[in-house]
Amino acid sequence: MTDFSDLMLDVAKVRNDFPILDREVHGKPLVYLDNAATCQTPRQVIEVFDDYYGRYNANIHRGLHTLSDEATAAFERTRDKVRAFINAREIREIIFTRGTTEAINLVANAWGRANLKAGDEVLISQLEHHSNIVPWQLLAAEIGFTIKVIPVDERGVLDQDAYRDLFTERTRLVAVNHVSNAFGTVNPISDMARVAHAHDALILVDGAQAAPHEQIDVVAMDADFYAFSGHKVYGPTGIGVLYGKAELLSAMPPWQGGGEMIKTVSFEAGSTFADIPHKFEAGTPAIAEVIALGAALDWVAGIGLPLIRAWEHRLTEHATRELSRIDGLRILGTAPGKAAVMSFVVDGAHSQDIGLLIDQLGVAIRTGHHCAQPLLSHFGVDATCRASFAAYNTPEEIDIFVESLERVIGMVR
Ligand code: PMP
Repeated sequence: MTDFSDLMLDVAKVRNDFPILDREVHGKPLVYLDNAATCQTPRQVIEVFDDYYGRYNANIHRGLHTLSDEATAAFERTRDKVRAFINAREIREIIFTRGTTEAINLVANAWGRANLKAGDEVLISQLEHHSNIVPWQLLAAEIGFTIKVIPVDERGVLDQDAYRDLFTERTRLVAVNHVSNAFGTVNPISDMARVAHAHDALILVDGAQAAPHEQIDVVAMDADFYAFSGHKVYGPTGIGVLYGKAELLSAMPPWQGGGEMIKTVSFEAGSTFADIPHKFEAGTPAIAEVIALGAALDWVAGIGLPLIRAWEHRLTEHATRELSRIDGLRILGTAPGKAAVMSFVVDGAHSQDIGLLIDQLGVAIRTGHHCAQPLLSHFGVDATCRASFAAYNTPEEIDIFVESLERVIGMVR
């Protein structure tokens, strides 16, 4: 049995913050293990919506009235919380987007269109989520640059020698995830950034799966761009972040036009644009969501990412040991120090059947290609089951999951 007693995480207290964890599914207590897709929100985040819409709902930045001032102040306070969360130097380096997907599309469309030419090369990895593949494919089809893929080994670890060998004098950008959503691999971003910069290439980091598990320091890792989503870090959906180095963002053209992002607009002289970050925040943003993201980051800071990480690692060890006992079950993604993601397939049992039947027992896991089709097909599968853990999961829940899985496998085999 895995020992959790040395860890100072009071999981009962943590769970108390999440009303959804009290619900039942098909008459069974919910065991929520789909955290890599979306994790649950504590009441401190949920309460922001009541408070905002009940007390100070107003459009931000433009108003001179009290409600608008209060909303603007709360919105901009979150920008500073995000800055601190990823240790960025300046608040103007923090741009709010709808999520990681929109952040990557912003870089592709604003930086990519201005800087990439036919014949250039962009490196992505075999581990990427579709949101860090497709925007580059769309742009490559228009511009004519080449996408090259950093390979993985049998554990799901990126081959760093092959990575170094992929660079040429035409390499302009490396776009890579910090943590793989399908396998949990944690990539050595600082080392990869050093290599990219030695070749005068930039590095964009998809941090969607890192934000809830890893302490992020964009300055120490020397990321040029870093993206993450609120809903994977105990915050709401519909909000995310793009960090970019100030000099890069300042030099980039805007990608969406509208209110908020201009200095002046004239029919005769055209438009001039606001300074960063506003240049990249056209239109009314998701104000309550931004403020709620701030509450989520406060909640995470209240426990501390090192403790969350240690707890989840212990859960992952426990799950690995228990799952390995199941006959015919194969775990995909065995990178050392991987994040709290367990992907697996079972001989003679379709992942989809497992997902549907285990839901009947109250256990929520994800099945499918996890938006990482190239990775899964490289490993010869088109779907896996994925259980992913958060700070509120318990060893007892892992045991229920494994027992339920054994029952389900018995039913379908
Ligand atoms: N990248 C990774 C590694 C992810 O796991 C996800 C979400 N599954 C995304 C990008 C996309 O995030 P979002 O849907 O929040 O934009």
